[in-house]
Amino acid sequence: PYERVAEVRKKNLSALYLAYYKKPLLLHQGHMQWLFDHEGRRYLDLFGGIVTVSVGHCHPKVTDAAKKQLDRLWHTTNIYYHSPLYEYAEKLTSRLPGKLKALYLTNSGSEANDLALHMARLHTGHYDIISLRSGYHGASPYTLGVTSLSAYKPDVPLGFGCHTTMCPDVFRGIWGGSHCRDSPVQTTRTCSCSPGSCEAKDRYIEQLKDTLETSSASRIAAFMAEPIMGVGGAVQYPKGFLKEAYELVRERGGLCIADEVQTGFGRTGSHYWGFQGHEVMPDIVTMAKGIEIAASLTRSLHFNTFGGNPVACAIGSAVLDVIEEDGLQDNCKTVGTYLLLKLSKLRDKFEIVGDVRGKGLMIGMEMVTDKKTRRPLPAQELNVIWEHCRHLGVLCGKGGLYNNTFRIKPPMCLTKEDADFAVSVLEAAINKYLDTA
Ligand code: PMP
Repeated sequence: PYERVAEVRKKNLSALYLAYYKKPLLLHQGHMQWLFDHEGRRYLDLFGGIVTVSVGHCHPKVTDAAKKQLDRLWHTTNIYYHSPLYEYAEKLTSRLPGKLKALYLTNSGSEANDLALHMARLHTGHYDIISLRSGYHGASPYTLGVTSLSAYKPDVPLGFGCHTTMCPDVFRGIWGGSHCRDSPVQTTRTCSCSPGSCEAKDRYIEQLKDTLETSSASRIAAFMAEPIMGVGGAVQYPKGFLKEAYELVRERGGLCIADEVQTGFGRTGSHYWGFQGHEVMPDIVTMAKGIEIAASLTRSLHFNTFGGNPVACAIGSAVLDVIEEDGLQDNCKTVGTYLLLKLSKLRDKFEIVGDVRGKGLMIGMEMVTDKKTRRPLPAQELNVIWEHCRHLGVLCGKGGLYNNTFRIKPPMCLTKEDADFAVSVLEAAINKYLDTA
């Protein structure tokens, strides 16, 4: 069957599809944090379907909810009332603070961000959008404008009125170091910041001010940022950066949008939403919106045929229940901190592990040629380690500006034993790479 799948893929699927691994995996089954290939080989999944499988593959309660709804009503559309949509809306908004109570359901993160940007422009009457370099917000024409990872940039101009500002990355950026970020593991880079006065934060804020002033003549519609960067490689900003950024944007009449596509639903451990870790209150979260802003959208017609599909909503409700019933937010905190600390030992041991960062089960491990220069390990070298991991039974993600960062965002049910296994495999893979390098 493997050869047949490979052939169909070549003949009948667009070349646009990415394929992980030299010999791509043919997956047949998933169970919680485990995936199984067509030959029954088991892999620990540290990437969770690119951070989508929060509660675990084929969690029985979620599967059961989907089956029940499939027997009842597959699809109609949201012009009619149906209970799963209303139950889900109530449940999800009850988990959002403040005025974030009006939900609009779309089909993807890109679509949600498209709509958020559109709403911000309608609501403010302003046009310009600011985002952080190295951020990823989607692959639609609109969101490509605010996604600044160069690999995703087409050669045609998209995203008029979209501007990026310097990524406040305390490991790789120009400023920052050992006191700047909110993580169980700090960077080894030294800085002269002290608690309560972060020089790096001040410098990055100066950059943002410059961008705000020069790009938009103070006509900002929105500032969009992830609480911790996902595709960008778990980049964490200096403490207090997001709070000041929100203030500056609001002074200029702009809205603040938190892209919680990767950081939401308890993954960061300490909070249900990533933005709460920054003590900020966004105007729009990519899943929910402040009510008065939601009303702006009624100025023009907006429609989405599949958004709020009954089966999707029944699944969504079950997922929210499982996150609570299985204590997954707490688990992210406990196991995530345990894993981060174990990975930091790899950083201390190996010259090529430059940085270990993140919160909960939103983790990045950035590879370098050496700790002194922090030069990125070339992506093809990282790939060698990453392929070894796969052969040793662990699937990792990768990303970052230079594609030199392991992205570790497993299903939230990961255990400490799994974390031990993951670290032992990463260690063996690095050793194997070093032996042959
Ligand atoms: N925002 C963030 C932070 C993301 O990580 C992604 C997807 N990786 C998106 C938006 C886009 O989501 P989708 O692929 O569902 O369009």
